[in-house]
Amino acid sequence: MTAASSKPGLIAHYIAGQHAAGESSRTQDVTNPATGAVTGKVALGAIADVNAAVAAANAAFPAWADTPPIRRARVMFKFLQLLNEHKDELAHLITAEHGKVFTDAQGEVSRGIDIVEFACGIPQLLKGDFTDQVSTGIDNWTLRQPLGVVAGITPFNFPVMVPMWMFPVAIAAGNTFVLKPSPTDPSPSLRIAELFKEAGLPDGVFNVVQGDKVAVDALIEHPDVKAVSFVGSTPIANYIYETGARHGKRVQALGGAKNHMVVMPDADIDQTVDALIGAGYGSAGERCMAISVAVLVGDVADKVIPKLIERTKTLKVLNGTNLAAEMGPIVTRAAHERITGYIAQGEKEGAKLLVDGRSFDGSTAGEGCGDGFWMGGTLFDHVTPEMRIYKEEIFGPVLSCVRVANFKDAVDLINDHEFGNGVSCFTRDGNVAREFSRRIQVGMVGINVPIPVPMAWHGFGGWKKSLFGDMHAYGEEGVRFYTKQKSIMQRWPESTPKGAEFVMPTAK
Ligand code: NAD
Repeated sequence: MTAASSKPGLIAHYIAGQHAAGESSRTQDVTNPATGAVTGKVALGAIADVNAAVAAANAAFPAWADTPPIRRARVMFKFLQLLNEHKDELAHLITAEHGKVFTDAQGEVSRGIDIVEFACGIPQLLKGDFTDQVSTGIDNWTLRQPLGVVAGITPFNFPVMVPMWMFPVAIAAGNTFVLKPSPTDPSPSLRIAELFKEAGLPDGVFNVVQGDKVAVDALIEHPDVKAVSFVGSTPIANYIYETGARHGKRVQALGGAKNHMVVMPDADIDQTVDALIGAGYGSAGERCMAISVAVLVGDVADKVIPKLIERTKTLKVLNGTNLAAEMGPIVTRAAHERITGYIAQGEKEGAKLLVDGRSFDGSTAGEGCGDGFWMGGTLFDHVTPEMRIYKEEIFGPVLSCVRVANFKDAVDLINDHEFGNGVSCFTRDGNVAREFSRRIQVGMVGINVPIPVPMAWHGFGGWKKSLFGDMHAYGEEGVRFYTKQKSIMQRWPESTPKGAEFVMPTAK
């Protein structure tokens, strides 16, 4: 491996405790979405880079797995302290490559830190069960052991938080880790690797390989990778799940979303409008838990829509570095084109375009923003379930309003959708709220909470096409995903031999 310093400007890998330029000559531009300027080039890792990272992780595994959990937790505590000290630095790195507004990026880092705090409790989380005297003179207990080298493959939209859904729990549990971040915003992962080393993490326990499909395929086929955590779009999640499973790996693959928010006629209108605007346009709609469909029940549409129009038109769309910004640019030019294509499609399909974000060109977003990937918020009314803008994930600042007659129609509509990541219901009726929570076929539910991302100890995961696999991310499900259970039954026989036993042992 060549040192990264020999290739200035290259955003590359972190393997065995060192920056590494890697073996591939392929690169991809990294841009600042606010200005459109190319700010760096990210290495697109070769199979040899993945092999080097997995070898480093494999070499580090036996000693790390043998390290007492309390000592692993002490490294996590030190890492936690460093993350808190460098929170704003990480948030700036996110804004520079992703574009989301700085305050939102700070929130992202905080939600990642929550998981590190959870992982600091690993000695308690790994505690097994013990039964004394399962039969005369015999005890039986279970313990959980780490798997080995595990991999994380992550999307562009949370370059700090989503990797932190994975590696703090995996590493605290005694595994070693190879992260393959999104090539769109690759820098934060390298800074995290440096901070982890500074916290005392042994070399090779946490590695980063930048790249695209080549690196991903090398990871999910590698015989020494025991488990794969993936977060990204549904077609790729499905591919990772199937391919990983075919190669004998444990896989959790979180996919795309189409999150609805039901507004009941009794909802507090101002609170509802605030929630829809924040959850629809925050992070330019590029959150897997963003609300992209407002389901307006009965006559509530007439009260909500005028306020939504006004608020959508007056969104503060500014360079994310401006602390007054409510929404920043779209992540890439390609994403911008995809989203504007969906807006045209919605018009063609007959939805009523109330606010057209395509007219916002960024000239008022801040100095130098003229060539950035800008658009304003878009609002559609009279969207129907047959339309592509309803069925497909747009992943941009486009809010679609669907009108339904009653609560039952709202629940049926959502339950018929292929995605089931997040959902919300705004109401003042406790019984409606309770029925909604019980009947809705979605993994994460908010009652008067628009973005119900579960806290660190509850675990994150959608249903249906939003998650392939059995276990949710982080929380106790995360601990189970990254460990395997062993049952030990032990007897210390008296010295008088009893002879061989040929019948199935039963309690005596
Ligand atoms: P993406 O699926 O394009 O990429 C995710 C990862 O897969 C990246 O690391 C990428 O390099 C890799 N990848 C892309 N194409 C691949 C291919 N053909 N073969 C192998 N690997 C490939 O997703 P994205 O655009 O980076 O992120 C946005 C998507 O992620 C949205 O669909 C969003 O809903 C989803 N997401 C879901 C969650 C969740 O928790 N369910 C959270 C965040 C984002």
